[in-house]
Amino acid sequence: SREIRLRTRPVGTPTAANFEVATTEVGAPGAGEVLVRNRFMSVDPYMRGRMYDRASYVPPFQIGEVLQGGAIGEVVESNAEGFAPGDLVSSFFGWREALVAPAAALEKLPRQANVPDQAFLGVLGMPGLTAYAGLLEIGQPREGETVFVSGGAGAVGSVVAQVAKIKGCTVVATAGTDAKCDWLRSRGVDHAINYRNGDLLGQVRAAAPKGIDVYFDNVGGEHLEVAIEVARPFARFAECGMISSYNDTEPSVGPRNIIQVVGKSLRIRGFIVSEFASLRPQFLTDMMGWIADGRVAWEETIHDGVDTAPEAFIGLFSGGNTGKMLVRL
Ligand code: NDP
Repeated sequence: SREIRLRTRPVGTPTAANFEVATTEVGAPGAGEVLVRNRFMSVDPYMRGRMYDRASYVPPFQIGEVLQGGAIGEVVESNAEGFAPGDLVSSFFGWREALVAPAAALEKLPRQANVPDQAFLGVLGMPGLTAYAGLLEIGQPREGETVFVSGGAGAVGSVVAQVAKIKGCTVVATAGTDAKCDWLRSRGVDHAINYRNGDLLGQVRAAAPKGIDVYFDNVGGEHLEVAIEVARPFARFAECGMISSYNDTEPSVGPRNIIQVVGKSLRIRGFIVSEFASLRPQFLTDMMGWIADGRVAWEETIHDGVDTAPEAFIGLFSGGNTGKMLVRL
C-alpha cells in the first residue's frame, strides 16, 4: 500500500519536495481490528498548521511519518464485531491507500441513495458541520439580515452561503475566480464578488450598502479588515479560519481598524468544529433534508491517486478547488 509522508517541514507555501511517497506492508487484521481500503481522502487547510513544529489544538505531523487526515473507505477484512466486508467507514487515517485499525478508530457510515460516499468528507462531513455550527451557533443569522462569507466557493464557505439563504438572509460571498462567483449566483447568492478584481472594500460596500450583520471568516487578512469596516453594530463574526496567512513566515499585521470592535460592540468569536460535535445528529438530519429538496448542492474537485495528494493539498492555497478538494484512491 502506498502512503504519503512528510519529508521536510514547509517554509512558506508547501512544495512537492516537502512530501514523499512510500510503500508499506499492510498485514491482516488482528483481534478487534479491521482492514480498510481507502476510496477517498480529504486534504484540508488546517493540515498546514500541523506541518509546523509547535503546540496547537492538534499535535504536529512528524518528519518521515505518514500524514493523517479524514478518509473514507471500504472494509476488506474484519476481525471485529459490527464490521463486515463492503461496509463504508470513515477514519482519520488518510494519506494512505490501505490500513489496519482497531474497530474503535473507525466509524461506520450510512450509505445514502442520493449522495455519493465522498460527501461524508465534505457537505455531510467535517466541513459541512463547521459551516452549520459556525453560522448558526456563532453567527446566529436572523431572517432579513446580511451575511458576508469569505472563501465562499470552498467546502465550508459554499455550505455557509446556502444555509444563510435557507435562513432568509441576504448573502454576500467572495471567491477567487469569475467561474466560482457564477456558481455562487446559481445557488442563490445575492452578491458574489471576485476579490482578485481589487477594491474589496468598495465591492463589499456596494453589495451591502447598509452593512453586514454576520461575517463568516475563512480567509482573514484584508477580508477581515473589510468585514470590520462594513459591520453593523452588534454584528457577529464566526472566526473559522484565516487561510490567507497560513503560509506566512512572519506574523502578519492585524486589522488596522480593530478599534471599531469597541464602538460597534462586535462579537468576534473563534471556534474549532470539535466544540460542536454534539450538533452532528441534528446537522445530518437538516443537511440530508436540504440536499433532498435541492436547497443545498455542492461541487468537488478530485485528484486521482495517492501520489497526487501533495499537489491537491498545495492547490488549496491557490484556489485550485471549487467546493471540496478530494483525492480518489
Ligand atoms: P476551501 O475548500 O475553502 O479551500 C481553500 C480556499 O481558500 C481555496 O479554494 C481558495 O479559494 C481560498 N484561498 C486560498 N488562499 C487564499 C487567500 N490568500 N485569500 C483568499 N482566499 C484564499 O477549504 P475549507 O472549506 O476546507 O476551509 C475553509 C476555511 O475554514 C479555512 O480557513 C480552514 O482553515 C477553515 N476551517 C476551520 C475549521 C474549524 O474547525 N475552525 C474546520 C474546517 C475548516 P479562492 O479561489 O476563493 O481564493
